[in-house]
Amino acid sequence: MDYSKFIVDKIKRMGESQTIAISEKAKQLKKQGVDVISFATGEPDFDTPDNIKEKAIASIRAGHTKYTAVAGIDELKAAVCAKLKRDNHLDYTPDQVLVSCGAKHTMYNISQVLFDAGDEVIIFAPYWVTYPAQVQLAGAVPVFIDTTKSSDLTLSGDDLQNAITDRTKAIILCSPSNPSGKVYRQKELEIVARSAIENDLIIIADEIYEKLVFDDFKFLSIAALGEDVKERTITVNGVAKAFAMTGWRIGYAAGPRQIIDAMRKIQGQATSNPNSIAQHAAVEALLEGSASTERMRKEFQRRRDVMVESLNAIEGFSCRKPEGAFYAFPRVSPLYSRAFGDRIIKNSVDLCSYLLDEAHAALVPGAAFGCDEYVRLSFATDLESIKTGLERIKQAVEKLNA
Ligand code: PMP
Ligand code: GLU
Repeated sequence: MDYSKFIVDKIKRMGESQTIAISEKAKQLKKQGVDVISFATGEPDFDTPDNIKEKAIASIRAGHTKYTAVAGIDELKAAVCAKLKRDNHLDYTPDQVLVSCGAKHTMYNISQVLFDAGDEVIIFAPYWVTYPAQVQLAGAVPVFIDTTKSSDLTLSGDDLQNAITDRTKAIILCSPSNPSGKVYRQKELEIVARSAIENDLIIIADEIYEKLVFDDFKFLSIAALGEDVKERTITVNGVAKAFAMTGWRIGYAAGPRQIIDAMRKIQGQATSNPNSIAQHAAVEALLEGSASTERMRKEFQRRRDVMVESLNAIEGFSCRKPEGAFYAFPRVSPLYSRAFGDRIIKNSVDLCSYLLDEAHAALVPGAAFGCDEYVRLSFATDLESIKTGLERIKQAVEKLNA
């Protein structure tokens, strides 16, 4: 039986998450015995730190196995407020916090609560795959601003102003950025903040990679620029990336009480509370996890240096040094129109599929992030695999005819 007539158009129109699809394809090939090195996965390869695991085990033993309040347990909301104060100089009260089933779920709640048919939402490209999908699912229109015109991916005030119409409702900002690793400087944040204030817009600040910032770069929360910015910002974060807790599914938002309460309402009808045990573990992560995060951050920085140097040694690749997150985002378009036999590389999808077949290396095409001239490689994988994988990519690229 063909069930497609039962499935609604908005779901048919929605694309798969390419980051997930390619990671799963690489895992499948590995299972079949193919020696694939995956640079596709956006998750730390480290194990969740022991103190966090122990907290979860203790919470099961203590009987924390029931439904909790929809918005999250008091201890976790208090820990989120303490964290935002300690790390981001932001004062929030627990009723301005909503805990959800991962930051992706937080973003989903935000889209459902703020966006309607005809609304426009500004997204800077390259962007995380999920933003446009969630905006469109809510019936709204993503409006993209290409930041690759500047080699440093600098946000332009003129581009932002030109993209704003009377239908614009919000700006989504991701710093450190997935997929580019760009960390926005105060000047750029001020441009976004000024624009939001002048045009009466909401700022959605996805800060999930906040803790993974390298060298001397300083991360700054846009909401910390001033009370007039904070009052129109929803700050989104979670425990997945900083504490190697991707599978635990805890994310959170802090923002204006009325919006948080509307998000709580939809969450109450969709999922109820996030996992009770994971919430207890997240308290430990936020209050006692910094030393583990710092160890992982240092290791990510070491891997970044090796990866970026190796990428820049491949003809046709050029990669800026990401200041944060765990992704390298090299420009590869000089390779387009090259061929291997009768296989012509025309775009980022062709190049990634060639590299998967020929180098057994899984990369995500830049097209998935709105920038077809690029590809994304995650360095959340061990140093040996990075070295071997990059050598294989280099050899495969050398086989392409000019
Ligand atoms: N935002 C960005 C930019 C991400 O890369 C991710 C990773 N999936 C998320 C949000 C969601 O994180 P999670 O749902 O695992 O908390
Ligand atoms: N955010 C990660 C990535 O970009 C995990 C996959 C996903 O949720 O899209 O690879």
